[in-house]
Amino acid sequence: MGLYKNFKVASYAHAPYLVQAEEKDILRQLDYFDTYLGGLDKIYLEPHRGEHRVSKEKLEAFIKLFKDRGIQVAGGLTATTDLMDDTVHRIFDVYCFSRENFREEFKEVVRETASYFDEFILDDFFFTSCRCPECIKKKGSRTWSQYRLELMEEIAHLVCDTAKEVNPDCRCVIKYPNWFEAWQETGYNPKKQKDIFDAIYTAAESRNPKMSQQHLPRYLSYSLPRYLENAAPGKNNGAWVDNGDSSNNLNWYIEQVMLAVFARAKEICLFGFGGLVDSPELPALGAQLKIADERMSELGSPVGVSTYYPFNADCGEDQLYNYIGMLGVPLEPTPYFEDTAKILFLTASAAEDEEIMDKLKAYVEKGGRAIVTSGFAKAMENKGMSDMTSARITDKVVSGDYYCTDPYIGDRREFFHGPGRITVHGIDYKTNATWSDCELVSENCNYPMLLRDDYGMGELYILNIPDNYSDLYKLPKEVMTLIRKDFARFNRAYIEAESQYNLFLYDNDTFAVASYREYREYMNIVVRGDCEKIQDMSTGQIYEPIRVKDQPDQRFDVAYVMQDEKESVFEVYFSPGTYKFFRIIK
Ligand SMILES: [Zn+2]
Repeated sequence: MGLYKNFKVASYAHAPYLVQAEEKDILRQLDYFDTYLGGLDKIYLEPHRGEHRVSKEKLEAFIKLFKDRGIQVAGGLTATTDLMDDTVHRIFDVYCFSRENFREEFKEVVRETASYFDEFILDDFFFTSCRCPECIKKKGSRTWSQYRLELMEEIAHLVCDTAKEVNPDCRCVIKYPNWFEAWQETGYNPKKQKDIFDAIYTAAESRNPKMSQQHLPRYLSYSLPRYLENAAPGKNNGAWVDNGDSSNNLNWYIEQVMLAVFARAKEICLFGFGGLVDSPELPALGAQLKIADERMSELGSPVGVSTYYPFNADCGEDQLYNYIGMLGVPLEPTPYFEDTAKILFLTASAAEDEEIMDKLKAYVEKGGRAIVTSGFAKAMENKGMSDMTSARITDKVVSGDYYCTDPYIGDRREFFHGPGRITVHGIDYKTNATWSDCELVSENCNYPMLLRDDYGMGELYILNIPDNYSDLYKLPKEVMTLIRKDFARFNRAYIEAESQYNLFLYDNDTFAVASYREYREYMNIVVRGDCEKIQDMSTGQIYEPIRVKDQPDQRFDVAYVMQDEKESVFEVYFSPGTYKFFRIIK
């Protein structure tokens, strides 16, 4: 018990496994955990999944077995059913909660689970996408999203009330799946459910960003635990990773766990128990977790650019902020508009908030700095955006691979080629009413990639997002760095590199960098403000700056000069699939 100082290690045994498992199988998996991870803190045991039901005798024997080993035991519940009805067709055999007979059966499963355990977690099938005749009738004129959000709020109460009728001490935990952009469509409702359930849990599986249809950038394994921690501070019990869709690449599996640890997940649940016996995953993970645990004791709390993603947002640019994270921009996603943040990032998802333009205007006017995407600007076109900028997102489609940077703060016009053509929507703007910091040059014309406007005491930036988000990775590194620098105006560090790096910042002058590059290379880390050198916290290696910029670039306005600080540039060598932790030495 208490294997690591900064997080617990748990696993989840699903019913199909437990039905066929014998005691020797359980012991063999436990021994494997003992050998490579030093043990297991907690196990979630699932009595029932679809047609699979574990007998009472067997379940009780397994509960005892785990407890005898000093392992904390909780329950697991997967809301799928083998209840058949010819008129109900739906994905993954989830329940049709519009129907009384399905509800009654579900309540029975909840009662059964609560009778065994003082805590259980709902695996991520606690949703409905049913469009059976009964659901169509009950939905009425509402959207599916509205209907299902209300329905699953009601079913959340049904779960907790039913469980506590059987076992008043039972703590009910809801796990939110990694497909966060689709939660509202399927009734996942953290806005309401976080206060109904005793705790929440986060799926941190980014799996295979390219070949999985879930299209989840790796940064999700860090950002989603942060989002849910910010949604319900202190109630996010942990992060869940399975080896599905990453078994072809051991590093990908390890990285998912590491990123959840970097996000300060309190518990890591490794799915699934029994499937990890003899696996290459646990030996490799054990070695890395040991290192990560030591480092996490020295790192502070995560910090990053406040990224407003309202609850139930469904306004386009799904997953976009995770692509920005893959450029090495440290983000702190939150469902709340943080008007005290020094800098805000808004994607089209922020348009879910009907008061967003009033909030944004007030924030920037008071001196805030906001970076918004072209998708957000387009969504707000007739809702007040023209008060803040002369820019208009047009339907013109332009492509190219040649860029000009000419930041207003900098006064240096330079040109760069990217590795391939990208396609963006042409943005029109009025010269000298709005400044273009960077343009895509296409034949004998050019279109903005990054625009800057003054508004009140603050600044508004509009970042032009390619239709294919992964085209962001084709920006020349100088263009990416210009963008990173705008995000980093109040951060301690940013990077000068290609894409496929993550930067994780902490509030005690420490940070980490992870590389997902395909080859080894030198990259630059730029520390802003007081800094003599940086130290690799694992090896102790000291890095001296290769360049120090004391005098910031300036153009016309003294106010901007004051925002720029001394910058110290460090050259660091990275191999793919590795990460390093650094301490800033002043
Ligand atoms: Zn239905």
